[in-house]
Order: sequence, then C-alpha cells, then structure tokens
Amino acid sequence: MKKIITFVNEFLIQKIMTKEEAKKFFMDRKNLSLIMSDEEIKKAHEFCEGYKDFMSKAKTEREINVYAIEKAEKAGFKRFNFGDKVKKGDKIYFDNRGKAVILAVIGENIEDGVNLTAAHIDSPRLDLKENPLYEQEELGFFKTHYYGGIKKYQWTAIPLSLHGVIIKKDGKKVIVNIGEDENDPVFLVTDLLPHLAQNQMKRPANEIIRGEELNILIGSYCVKGEDISSRVKTNIMQILNAKYGIVEGDFLNSELEAVPALKPKDIGFDRSMIGAYGHDDKVCAYPELMAILEIKDPKKTAIAILTDKEETGSDGNTGLNSSYLKYFIEDLAATLGANPRKVFSNSKCLSADVNSAYDPTFPDVFEKANSSFLNYGVVVTKFTGSRGKYGTSDANAEFTAEIHHLFDKEGVIWQNGELGKVDLGGGGTVALYMANLNIDTIDVGVPVLSMHAPYETVSKLDTYMAYKAFYAFQK
Ligand code: MN
Ligand code: MN
Repeated sequence: MKKIITFVNEFLIQKIMTKEEAKKFFMDRKNLSLIMSDEEIKKAHEFCEGYKDFMSKAKTEREINVYAIEKAEKAGFKRFNFGDKVKKGDKIYFDNRGKAVILAVIGENIEDGVNLTAAHIDSPRLDLKENPLYEQEELGFFKTHYYGGIKKYQWTAIPLSLHGVIIKKDGKKVIVNIGEDENDPVFLVTDLLPHLAQNQMKRPANEIIRGEELNILIGSYCVKGEDISSRVKTNIMQILNAKYGIVEGDFLNSELEAVPALKPKDIGFDRSMIGAYGHDDKVCAYPELMAILEIKDPKKTAIAILTDKEETGSDGNTGLNSSYLKYFIEDLAATLGANPRKVFSNSKCLSADVNSAYDPTFPDVFEKANSSFLNYGVVVTKFTGSRGKYGTSDANAEFTAEIHHLFDKEGVIWQNGELGKVDLGGGGTVALYMANLNIDTIDVGVPVLSMHAPYETVSKLDTYMAYKAFYAFQK
C-alpha cells in the first residue's frame, strides 16, 4: 500500500524567506517573445509563411485532403488500402472519401501502442441547401444552411467564395472553386442598411440575421427571349451549364460550401499574428501534417489524423465518431500480426484542436488562472465539455503529467487553458471519441481570438509551438 501523507498533530512552521525562495513554489509563465531566441522567432515566422500559403490554397476539408495527400506522396507516403501488407519504416496514408485522411509512419512493435495526433479540417461555413437556386424580384440567390456554430450576423456583407463538388448525371465529378483567384467574382449575403434597421436591431443577436436570411446573392441579369419565367435564375443556370455542364437537378448531387473569400494576412505592426478564415482547426492540422511528414524511424508507430465533421459533432462516416480510424488501426494490427486491443489500450493521442484565447475586451467570460493567452505557447487542455464536464474525456493525471513532462524536456512551451468560465458554455473536440477507443487522450492546440468568426486570429509563435509539440510527441 502506498503511504498517504497526513497532517495530523503537526506544527505549521512559519519561515521567513526571500523573494527568490518564494518564487520556486509557483509556475513561471512568460510571453514567448521574451523567452524565444531571435533565431527561433525567425524560424517560427518562416514556418508561418508555409502555413499562410496553405491557408490561401486549401480552405475546405476536400481541398485539405488533396493538399495533404500531395505533400505526403512527395514525402514518400504510399496509398494504403485495407488488407495491404506493411512493415517497419513504411509511410502510408488512408484516404477516407476525399474528406478525411490518416497518415502513418510504421514503427517497431505496434502492440506497444501508437502515438496519434488528431486535428479536424472542416470549419464553420455556409453550406448550400439541396435545392438552393431561386430568384426573387429579379435577383438570383442560393439558399444556405449554416454548418457549425456561427454568429450568423458576422456572415453578411463579406465576400464569399464557393467550394465543393457536383456529381453529374454521367457520373463525372465537377470540382468547384470560385472566388479565390484575384480575377474571380465573389458572392455575398446582403444585410439591411442601418437607416432602415431599427426593428432588425431590436431582434436578439442570434436573430439579427436568421438562418433563412442567409441567402447568397449570385446574379442579377435577365436572360432575353419570350415567355421565359425566372429570367435571372435561367440566366444563372445558362452560365453554370456552359461552365460546368450541369442542370438544376444536379445540385441534389453536390456539396457546395460558401466560405469567406479572404486571404490570410499578418496582423499587427509587429506582424506577430495571422488573420485568416478557418484557423479552427487548420492551425493544428497544418503543424500536425508538417510534423508527421518529417517523422523518420519512430520507435512507436506515428499516426496523424485529419478528420472531417468535428464542427457538427463528429458524426457521419468522415467524422471521428464513426469507425474509420478503428478499422484502420485494426487492419494495421492484423497485417502486423498484432492484437488490436493491445494496440488501442497502449496508444496515446494528442487531440489537436484550438482553444479560446483570453480576450481582454471580454474579460467576463474567462477565468484568468485557467485561460490560455496569445503568445504563451501551445495549450494543453485536460478536459473540455460543459454543464459539469459533460461531453469530455477528461485526461487522467498520470497522462497529463506524461505530456507536460515530455514538453518540458523537449523545449515545447505550453500553457493550461479551459474554454471559458464554468456554466458559461463550453465546447467539445474529438478527444472523447479517441478516448472512447481506450486511448489515453488529451487536447493540445493553439489559442485563437474570435474563434468561429469569418476571420480568426492566432499568434505565429503559438502556431510554431504546436508544430514542435506534435513533432516531439511522435518522433
Ligand atoms: Mn476545433
Ligand atoms: Mn470549432
């Protein structure tokens, strides 16, 4: 039995001590810009140039899937199908329906467990409805159903681009990407002028713009000719037919996503931050991808997951609440002659997702001692969830210690951070789905300002620290 320390019948001795002596009892957290060398800051900024380039090229889960596979193949990763034989040193990737991807570098005995990182590559946005096209008063629109948690009023009167796929009757897939090129047109959701918005401004904030008012303006010219109804709609269909060879019914076989047509930019006079659409969770996905691409001969198999559907609760067959990861690991175990239960039970996961950075403009929602701050390093979050820790995996102390100590040893600067005050809300990540597979799991990610807004902000040094964290964990 382990000895339990008791306080019975002991005197509490009051000592006099110096400031230095007193300091040793407490955590010493400093802004990364104070403690990182100029050389390392330069490295971080260079890393973030790559990140910005990625952010301007890949905005949706499908585009990131393609980007990741392209980079992986260049780095020697081979496509893996269930049943394929693998051996130590192999680099493989598993493409889940073009919307999620698993990358792996095979290590020694897989029954010792694998080291997983799991980020999501979907971000809040406006999805087109199944039958989206309509015309009203000679203006053409797309109806939308928003995806993920957004403040709807933030999505009006900003330029939007359209991304996705349409499957035509002949089975051919049309890839849509319009609004990103400098010379492309863009789209937008209109809003009411303040002069006439007296009543609108009295609506509660979640109804200033209602779901059915998130209509995307897409055209205004009429087609010429006699006895044609819906002239604007017809003109738009004519353009889409000429461009993509589609008819209206093909929208029923499409996935089209409207996202902010905004380029990533440096923020601040000191260029210390990056503004972009979808840092949540690409700011973890990119460092995770860069880390696994550099992993060579790991002792334990390294696996990086870029998953879809986190923003809508991880359900669906490209989300982590489905079995695709389980099948992948079970299949690896089978091909290596290992017991999958041992593999899962000995595995560890960094659930790579963002956290809410402390915002001094809105201090009320944060509890300072348990908040993450911009430029204080990667955030390690023991539990998420809300209403009494519902919907969380809550990492155990043994595992938090293991990760904290590993980061300390590897020079990864980290901070703790809970998502806001108790009883004020909360949020979830993929951590619980990983933990439910009997994998030790903890959230590790980058603090973000204005999360889920069309243009979010992160710090360059934190982003770089995330990369260092994932690499240290898997190398
Ligand atoms: Mn997220
Ligand atoms: Mn999110």
